[in-house]
Amino acid sequence: MQKLYLIKLGEISLKKGNRNAFEKKLKENIKHKLKPYASRITTEKGREYLYVDSDCPDETVEKALSTTFGITGYARSYISEKDLKRIKESASECLDNSAFENKGSFRVAAKRSDKSFPLKSSELEIELAKVVSKRYPDLTVDLDNADYTLSVEIRDKAYIYSNDKKGESGLPVGTAGSGIALLSGGIDSPVAAYMMAKRGMKLTLLHFHAYPFTSEEALEKTKRLAAIIAPYLQGAKLYSIPFLKGQEHIKEKGIENEATLLFRASMMETTERLLKMLNGEAIVTGEALSQVASQTLKSMVFTDSMCSSLILRPLLGMDKEEIIEKAKRIGTYEVSILPFEDCCSAFSPKHPNTHPDLEEMREHYKKLEMDKYIDEALENMSVFSFDDKGRLYAENN
Ligand code: ATP
Ligand code: MG
Repeated sequence: MQKLYLIKLGEISLKKGNRNAFEKKLKENIKHKLKPYASRITTEKGREYLYVDSDCPDETVEKALSTTFGITGYARSYISEKDLKRIKESASECLDNSAFENKGSFRVAAKRSDKSFPLKSSELEIELAKVVSKRYPDLTVDLDNADYTLSVEIRDKAYIYSNDKKGESGLPVGTAGSGIALLSGGIDSPVAAYMMAKRGMKLTLLHFHAYPFTSEEALEKTKRLAAIIAPYLQGAKLYSIPFLKGQEHIKEKGIENEATLLFRASMMETTERLLKMLNGEAIVTGEALSQVASQTLKSMVFTDSMCSSLILRPLLGMDKEEIIEKAKRIGTYEVSILPFEDCCSAFSPKHPNTHPDLEEMREHYKKLEMDKYIDEALENMSVFSFDDKGRLYAENN
């Protein structure tokens, strides 16, 4: 026996010539998340139907569909022959497993794509409303603002479902190239990674740490954040780079109020080196315009000038409130606010330069001769691999 889920597609259904490639990736991503349970997905006119082993727990399917980009909505569905008696039986079965309760309001929404079906949509709605009313006599009908909706679609078969859940929308991960997302322990960067994955990017995560100057908990926190966003990213590797020596060198030899910017320049240089090793195309950061000293336009012009790769900053135009709201929804917020110090903040100057002179800064950075620190940091990086269920499955030093 298999369970059936209806999957609604959003932006993918607007694609023309290359729609198949997007759908293929989406199917791959969903099926991979459901492993070891067997599943298959069929497509029909803007709908996907997922059939999955009936011993696969509902929560597993729920978790898979709610974290996969490219899905705008989904619902556990019931299939029957296009015969009113059978449809009513399936509607009953659907109600058995639905959120319906005997208070509030409901409506039935019927859609008859197969016009040879003898009942009109409105007639079918009335027939199924009788099934609902019989079981929940206190429910009232409300066509505009119902608490519960029972839907039926007459296509090759009759498909019945109730209260479809909203998906994350976006485009399937793996359809928009690849890159590195810089992950600090803060609120912003996991949201930034989530947002670019939502546009289809396949991301590798990269964290710089200053252990033992900063605590082991700070790294653990980043691993926890990686685990939370990994399902959205269809699994991800987290590279962890020790950068204490580089930071100490900047602190010792650099100009005090430029320390953060100089560190950021070396961070971008290191990231770009790794990006090339991984054949990636862009770097993602959680910067938002003017949120902190290192995120003024002038500061970003400087960091960009130190790096030839495309830097994507999906949070640039968002304010903190909006970012926090997203972080809460994704589930990273509670971990992000744990009070372990990040290597960036640990070395930040009291009065950072917010309007650096580009040429001067570039000169100052060059003088630091960071190459050997960058080489050493890359040689000593660790990798933690998270699967698409957010489980850590491999680590090496
Ligand atoms: P966040 O909340 O993401 O930590 P922030 O507002 O604290 O961001 P910064 O510390 O200036 O801002 O960092 C800006 C961006 O640089 C981060 O969003 C992240 O992408 C990257 N970044 C900062 N620190 C690190 C780090 N230790 N490792 C990897 N990336 C980092
Ligand atoms: Mg930070």
